[in-house]
Amino acid sequence: MSCCIRGAITIEENTKECIWQNTELMLDEIIKRNSLSVEDIISVVFTATRDIDAAYPAVVLRKMGITEASLICMQEMYVKGSLEMCIRVMVTINTDKSQKDMEHVYLKGAVVLRPDLVKKKSEAVAIDGPAGSGKSTVAKLIAKELDYIYADTGAMYRAVGLYCINNNINYADNKAVESVLDNIDISLVHSDGMQRIFLNGKDVTEEIRTPAVADGASKVAAIGSVRAMLVALQKKLAHENKVVMDGRDIGTNVIPDARVKIYLDASVDVRAKRRCHELDEKGIAYNYDAIAADISKRDEYDKNREINPLRIAEDAHVIDTSYMTIDEVKNTILNIIRG
Ligand code: C5P
Repeated sequence: MSCCIRGAITIEENTKECIWQNTELMLDEIIKRNSLSVEDIISVVFTATRDIDAAYPAVVLRKMGITEASLICMQEMYVKGSLEMCIRVMVTINTDKSQKDMEHVYLKGAVVLRPDLVKKKSEAVAIDGPAGSGKSTVAKLIAKELDYIYADTGAMYRAVGLYCINNNINYADNKAVESVLDNIDISLVHSDGMQRIFLNGKDVTEEIRTPAVADGASKVAAIGSVRAMLVALQKKLAHENKVVMDGRDIGTNVIPDARVKIYLDASVDVRAKRRCHELDEKGIAYNYDAIAADISKRDEYDKNREINPLRIAEDAHVIDTSYMTIDEVKNTILNIIRG
């Protein structure tokens, strides 16, 4: 099947360099946003306003390795008062997707041409990373600073894990978990930058913070139907609110168009020591080796599961927090968001 993708960009000056650079930028965006490879492109039609005549935009295609597509460049008809210095393109591609899934690309001054076709980028901030990398502490601070809602998606998987434990469901048994999903109702309440989580109407915000529930969470998180249910809730939350959302697949799956994606990391040793410090503060006895082993086991599980594993989004900013204070991490992220 074939589909058409449209694009347009305005250029600053009528020079070869400017025409080629902008054409390449526009085509790159079309390819990136629609996850295309150059072989998918069947034909390319360029038009340009009549004030552009220093070069043919199509020359760029060869440079980008698009050699098989049929192509043509044309001068546009002049309409009084229309946008000047503008290159437009219509790319026909071979695809299994439908026309409505195509993302059209309007850049620079050309954004005004078809605001209806330009996908608005989400305002969300996505923070992913392994257990103990500092996501939740920092995400809460960032949410407060931006006056956004903090959404902790791990809590949702924990709530499903807790349900299984409380109801003697073997959480490692996919079929058993799937059969009770209809009985699980999870809701989130946000106030004062904090999130409280309710499982079938009961506030379980504190109850889900045990190692046993964490283990259950990472097991149920590998089950497709559990993820489908929770990801739908998370997408809705991100769509209806301004959120700083943390988890494992936020930038890669839940909000792929987040305005900023952060991946926090730290060594297992540092993360285990952080957990020990938290337990120390609460006066709870612990064993460092057991905590480090538990963190490694969960990393292994989260990174290697088949569905939405923990991985770094291509456009994420990776921050190793091992030797950073919370304030340093917070300021680094705020600089990225504001910069
Ligand atoms: O972040 P937290 O440790 O509370 O998450 C508990 C578990 O939930 C993780 O180990 C992971 O398996 C799962 N999870 C997930 N996807 C998310 C958030 C958490 O798979 N977006």
